[in-house]
Amino acid sequence: MTSPQPDTLILGGGLSGLLAAWHLQRAGRLVDVGEASEAGGGWVQTLPWPGPNGEPGHLERGPQGLRVGRTGALAELLRDLDLPLEPTTPKGPRWVGKGGQRRLSPASLKGLLSDPNLSIGDLLRLLAEPFIGPGPEEENLHAFFARRLGPGFARECLPALVAGVLAAPPECLGLAALPRLRHLEAKGGLLLGSLRDGPERTRHPVGGTGALARTLADRLACVRLGQRALRLEALPDGRWRVHGTDGIREAATVVLALPPAAAATLLEGPAPAAAQLLAAMPALDLRVWHSRHAPVPGWERGFGLLIHPPEGRGLLGAVALAGDDPRGVPGLLQVRTYLGGAYPLAADLTAWPGIFQELRRWLPELGEPVQVREEPCPGAFPLLAPGHETRLAQLDGVLPQGLHWLGAARSGPGLPDLAEAIAAWAKTLTAT
Ligand SMILES: Cc1cc2nc3c(=O)[nH]c(=O)nc-3n(C[C@H](O)[C@H](O)[C@H](O)COP(=O)(O)OP(=O)(O)OC[C@H]3O[C@@H](n4cnc5c(N)ncnc54)[C@H](O)[C@@H]3O)c2cc1C
Repeated sequence: MTSPQPDTLILGGGLSGLLAAWHLQRAGRLVDVGEASEAGGGWVQTLPWPGPNGEPGHLERGPQGLRVGRTGALAELLRDLDLPLEPTTPKGPRWVGKGGQRRLSPASLKGLLSDPNLSIGDLLRLLAEPFIGPGPEEENLHAFFARRLGPGFARECLPALVAGVLAAPPECLGLAALPRLRHLEAKGGLLLGSLRDGPERTRHPVGGTGALARTLADRLACVRLGQRALRLEALPDGRWRVHGTDGIREAATVVLALPPAAAATLLEGPAPAAAQLLAAMPALDLRVWHSRHAPVPGWERGFGLLIHPPEGRGLLGAVALAGDDPRGVPGLLQVRTYLGGAYPLAADLTAWPGIFQELRRWLPELGEPVQVREEPCPGAFPLLAPGHETRLAQLDGVLPQGLHWLGAARSGPGLPDLAEAIAAWAKTLTAT
């Protein structure tokens, strides 16, 4: 007996492809996911990294934790999957490196109040935030925060916070890079909106964030690994043919859950205008180093450090797992260091010795590493510049019927944004 033909082919088995398949399958569609690599999940993978004596240990390729609220598509998904979660909080100290020194992060109230670069006027201006109305449609992140929280905050605090999350300067990013900002503004502002939404906590599935992708793939039972899509062909009857490393597949609907450059390559033949728009969407390369060190007193719950650009000369920040995090190796401090993105790297920061020296400038307590490993992240972060939404609307106008494009460059790189956008997209698709 032959198995029924899928009506939807999803290209790419990262979290976007898996989420698309999850929603479509639950709406009764017959779905097939083809993933080029030998492992699903894309950036959301927890990789084995044994300790120096072969002890079990892991590192995260992408997110170390998921910010989840009580409501929202990601919270709902985690409930549906019944995935056991562990708190990634409470955390140890959070710092920002600025003026050559380390001080408390302005992302905390204590850090804000003790920031020597913020005047009384700047602090009073922060309190006015709930009274600020909505801004223009197109605004860069610097302009948004200057308008809502004042120019002092935007100048002194914002660059490090944005570089640490999005690896680019706030002036180069539009609101599409942090879609939650618009949502909060519509709910009365950053402060009132967050209060109205309720608390968010950072958690990770037992076994690491990769367990989310693995569980989704297991439940879907339609993910084929090692299957790269090579070419896309429009058929005379309006259906689509995908030429891949596993042969030919056909369906009425094809979803490209791929980074813009990969999607552009496939669309060159059948949809050159769409390919051109996708090819013009920039993506940032991140350099990520993982290291293990002797524990440092006071850092038992881990730490977070963001460096105010350009002071790190391309070093954006570092984060350490809590000592009892099961992904780490007992008795060692596990650190992840980020570099690059939109920021030029100083020549001595392309190899570990120089990176470690720069890191020690901010974290002098850190001992020599006992283990080091680089996990490069080429094209990992989309640079969603102001005007991105206009480009998305243009893209939707030229994508032929039956073709869809999803991914972090469509919805913003945060997994909560991705989950929200893909749930809404699937609802629209299955309603037609
Ligand atoms: C270091 C790092 C830290 C991060 N930290 C956070 C965080 O703290 N919080 C957060 O919310 N987000 C974080 N992110 C972002 C988040 O991980 C990504 O936005 C998200 O995983 C993107 O998923 P995706 O499916 O859209 O893309 P991807 O993960 O890139 O998946 C695309 C998939 O398509 C496959 N593919 C490519 N070409 C083809 C082809 N021709 N045929 C078939 N398959 C193909 C690829 O192999 C890949 O598996 C982080 C990312 C990185 C890299």
